[in-house]
Amino acid sequence: MAAEKTTGIVLRVIPFGETSCIVNMFTRDFGKLTTMAKGARRPKSPFEAALDVLALCRIVFLNKNPDAMGLLTEAKLERRFRSATRSLDRLYAGYYIIELLNSLTDDGDPHPELFDLSIQVIEQIDSTEISEEKLGVTLLNYELKMLEILGHLPMLTKCVSCGREKTTIARVSFGLNAGGILCSTCRRSESNIVSLSPEGLQFLLGIVGGQIGELSRNSDNWNGQRQELVSGSDQLITQRELEAQKFPSGLPSQNLEEGHDELADVDATGTESDRCLIEVRRLIHKYITHLLGFQPKLYKFLGNL
Ligand SMILES: [Zn+2]
Repeated sequence: MAAEKTTGIVLRVIPFGETSCIVNMFTRDFGKLTTMAKGARRPKSPFEAALDVLALCRIVFLNKNPDAMGLLTEAKLERRFRSATRSLDRLYAGYYIIELLNSLTDDGDPHPELFDLSIQVIEQIDSTEISEEKLGVTLLNYELKMLEILGHLPMLTKCVSCGREKTTIARVSFGLNAGGILCSTCRRSESNIVSLSPEGLQFLLGIVGGQIGELSRNSDNWNGQRQELVSGSDQLITQRELEAQKFPSGLPSQNLEEGHDELADVDATGTESDRCLIEVRRLIHKYITHLLGFQPKLYKFLGNL
């Protein structure tokens, strides 16, 4: 029985019996992994203080049978999540990453790129590298990158159903079932539709790096309505630029169509890019909830982020 070595993020530690623990980790080489850590709760355990939620550890484990729980024989702490006692918002952001890893990935299905991204974002959240005001946008970037790595990134530049290219930025119908934007024809036969503003769509494209074929000042009537983006630029702008610049005022008023769920109706204060961030985060939260079939528990704690 060969000992396997890898690095992992501790997702959950469940006490077992008198002195042991069941440890759930997201590992770089084996994906999500559940192991038994015998004697982990003894005062002088071989795992020292490594088995702490959100900690990054180098581990050694034995795996007799792929269907059975492995035996953790060594865990060496590489980095602890220190914000747990300093900032509730940072703690919730960290717990949210764990919840996503737990619910969106499968046992034994490694995604090294997602692992590297996760430890990088956990480190950012845990440090002063990003301010608490930026936790929301950091989580949104993480969610989108994670969806991309796992093959769930929504289609944003053409109709997800018929492939019709979208050539202007205008209010769009986003199909939660379909997994992307829908043209006016395909929208009729779809349910679970959310309406996304032109600013929200552009904000989202700025993050994922998508391109709308040929941006035109004139509506192509793609969405069954004539709408234009009043921005002076025909180029998609990056998230950093979005944050730095306010959208010009005087965007044409958007009339919601019946049956659409409005995402950006609450926050009348703040900058345009703040409103876009809120709208897009709500959309992505609805989309993740739809993918999972349940709402992540941490959503109710992320309200301030
Ligand atoms: Zn279509």
